Amino acid sequence: MTLLASVSEYLEQRIIRRKPSMALRIGVHLPAWFVDAVQQSRFQAMIRYVGEHSAFYRRRFQETGIVPSRVKTPDGLDGLFTTSEDLRTHPVEDFLCAPAQIVFETTGTTSHHNKKVFFGLSEMEWMARYGAAALVHLGVTPQDRLVTAFDHSFWVSGPLAREVTRVLGCLHVEAGKIEPAEFYDRATHYRFNVLIGEPSWLMRLSEVAATRGTWPVKFMLVGGENMTEATRKYIEGVWNAPVYLEYGQTESCGAIGVECPVKDGYHLNELNFLFEIDSPDKDGYGELVYTTLTRRVMPLVRYRAADITRWIDTPCPCGLPMRRIAHIRSRKDEMVVCGMGNISPWVFEAALEGVSGISSEWQVRVTRPRHKDCLELHLELVNGERPDAIGERVKHNLRSLFPDFWKNYEMGLYELEFHGVAPGGLRQGRKLLRLVDARQGLVDAR
Ligand SMILES: [Zn+2]
Repeated sequence: MTLLASVSEYLEQRIIRRKPSMALRIGVHLPAWFVDAVQQSRFQAMIRYVGEHSAFYRRRFQETGIVPSRVKTPDGLDGLFTTSEDLRTHPVEDFLCAPAQIVFETTGTTSHHNKKVFFGLSEMEWMARYGAAALVHLGVTPQDRLVTAFDHSFWVSGPLAREVTRVLGCLHVEAGKIEPAEFYDRATHYRFNVLIGEPSWLMRLSEVAATRGTWPVKFMLVGGENMTEATRKYIEGVWNAPVYLEYGQTESCGAIGVECPVKDGYHLNELNFLFEIDSPDKDGYGELVYTTLTRRVMPLVRYRAADITRWIDTPCPCGLPMRRIAHIRSRKDEMVVCGMGNISPWVFEAALEGVSGISSEWQVRVTRPRHKDCLELHLELVNGERPDAIGERVKHNLRSLFPDFWKNYEMGLYELEFHGVAPGGLRQGRKLLRLVDARQGLVDAR
C-alpha cells in the first residue's frame, strides 16, 4: 500500500467512520490529485485481489493474458469489462471473494431474471458513512426529522437509508412505499422536514399536498428514476423547498453520486469507485463504467452501468473535489432503432417537458400495425385534457427540438398516435419502462 493510500485509509477509518460532518469539512479541502492517487493505488490492489480470489476474473485474466500485478490503470485491462449479462449467466460463486451477509436484487427493466448482488455488513455500513456525509452536505443535522418511503422487497435503498440515518443520529421513520394519500395523513403528525423517496412517488405526494396543504420542509431527495426539470420545479413550488437527485444502482450498493446544493450533476463517490465514460460521442456522452475499489465480498471490475452520461469538467462552486457526471440521459439498453431514428427515452422526456394536461407517468410503445412503425405515446391525463389536444403540443415540441426525427415523420417513415391512460394505469412494477419495442417478428436487416 502506498503512503497516500495509508493516509486516506487512516482519515476514512478515524474520521468518516465517526463523524460525517467533520469528514465533509476535510473532504472539501482534499486536492484532486490526492483523490486520483488514492484511486490509482486502490485500483491496482483491487485487480490483484480479484485475480487471487474471484474465479470469474481469474479466468478472464487467463483468457486475455492479463497479469494482475502489471495492471496500473483501466487501460491495462485491454477491453475487459463486466456486464449485467455476466452477473446473470455465471454462478454467483464465481464472483464471491469472501463470505456475504446481505444480498439484494436489481430492479432492471429488460429482463425477468433479477441480478443478485452480495455484500458484507461492514461494506454496507461503509457506504452509509459516505451517504451520511452527502446528506450533511445538503444540510441535514441530528435535529432533523427524516422519512424514507422505499419498497423494501429485495431492494437496497431502504436498508441503506436505515444505515445512513444511524450514522446521522437524526429521527428516522421508514414509511415504506405506501399510497401517497395515506402517507400524507400519517406524516402530518410527525412534520418530517427531510423527505426521501422515488420521483414518481414524491410527485403524487406533492399533488396531494398541493390541494391539502404542506408543512415546512428543508429538502427532498429522490433516486431510482429520472426526473425532468419541469417535475422538479413543480414539486419545489408545492413545498417551497429544494429537490435533490441521487444516482445509484444495486450493483454499487446504492447511491454513488449525489447532487450538491448547486444541483448541477452528481458528485461521485470517488474514494470507493473508479469511474470511466466508455466510448464517448462528440458531445462526451458515453456509458458509465465503474470499478469497486473497497469491496471485498463481490467486487466488480469495470462494470458497465448501461447508463449514458458525460463528465462535467468544471469545478463545482460547492468546493467538493469529487468529480461530477451529468444527469443520466438514457439507459443504453433502452435505445430503439425504428422509423423515427435511433431513439431513447430522453427524446420523449424533452418533447413532453412543459406540456400541460399530463402527469410524469408516460410510456412510448413502438408497434408495427401494418408496414411501418407506429410510435404510440401512452400518457396519463390530468385535468380532463384530451389526447389529441396534447398530441398537437407534443408534435410542436418534436418539430422544434428534433428536426431530423420530424423530417422522418413528414416523409411518412413512421406514424404517431396519442393515447390517454387513467391515473395509475401504466406502472406495474417498481420501475416504469419508458420505451418499449413491441414490434413482433422483426428481421434485423443490418
Ligand atoms: Zn457541488
